Amino acid sequence: MIIDGKALASKMEAETKARVEKLAAEGRRPGLATIIVGENPASQMYVRIKHSACDRVGIRSENVNLPEDASLDDVIETIRELNERDDVNGILLQLPLPGNSDPSSAMAAIDPLKDVDGFHPMNMGSLLAGDERLVPCTPKGIIWALEQLGVDLEGKEAVIVGHSNVVGKPLAAMMLNRNATVQVCHVFTKDLASHTREADVLVVAAGVPGLIKRDMVKKGAYIFDVGINRVGDKTVGDVEFDEALLVAAAVTPVPGGVGPLTVSMLMSQTVTAAEMQMKTKKR
Ligand code: NAD
Repeated sequence: MIIDGKALASKMEAETKARVEKLAAEGRRPGLATIIVGENPASQMYVRIKHSACDRVGIRSENVNLPEDASLDDVIETIRELNERDDVNGILLQLPLPGNSDPSSAMAAIDPLKDVDGFHPMNMGSLLAGDERLVPCTPKGIIWALEQLGVDLEGKEAVIVGHSNVVGKPLAAMMLNRNATVQVCHVFTKDLASHTREADVLVVAAGVPGLIKRDMVKKGAYIFDVGINRVGDKTVGDVEFDEALLVAAAVTPVPGGVGPLTVSMLMSQTVTAAEMQMKTKKR
């Protein structure tokens, strides 16, 4: 089976839209503010995709474009201003920063209740402790899709390839929170295939085209291909899709798999953030 990420994402967006309308009826339409530093075309494109998703579900959106030479202090100052605004419920700093400078102090400046990307150390810590508040959108989208597919993680062998802060590490915590047995592989893993062959659920987020071949997949596995790689004029994932389909129970395509789920989950989390902020104010 091909996992239709676009169809699942549309379903999530319909649910999100209903939640937005409820808040809007109370005069509290949720708002998302994105920040881009510089003119990175990929960042501009990703932010455009997020803003059009906002339009689809009725979230108000705005972008702050800081100049290429903005300092980390300038970024933090912008974040502080957005933290103070009641009409901004979610703040998203688009990465990478120019020169690949370390974004961690900027991430930590975002109000944890507005941290819709789930990268704030407090939200990361809560996730690890089993209390999932605002969490990274790509892994949360995968967990949501597994639920929609009726795959219960409890007792399953889950293998994640990639141990980044954005995907692999938070996903491992989410899967442990659901009682899967989790292996996390990465570039230093000695025999990758010996791990991936054990996976009932295999998530690949390495950024290496063709990394996962047919003989590395367990029969009946659920495979989520997070990778986005440009090969010639095509966008491909990390999994040999046609080969994997012959063995697996289900595989996400690239494009049209994990990407749309990530964007829709960002919308859902923006509404969750708005709901959480309302509750905090009422206390
Ligand atoms: P990253 O570069 O931060 O991490 C890559 C990870 O893969 C590291 O843990 C590294 O050790 C591991 N890795 C690299 N080569 C490997 C190999 N040969 N064998 C085993 N492990 C290997 O990347 P990231 O930010 O987590 O992103 C990974 C990929 O997912 C990229 O292609 C990125 O574009 C894509 N991505 C997609 C989405 C989405 O929404 N679809 C979201 C985030 C990232």
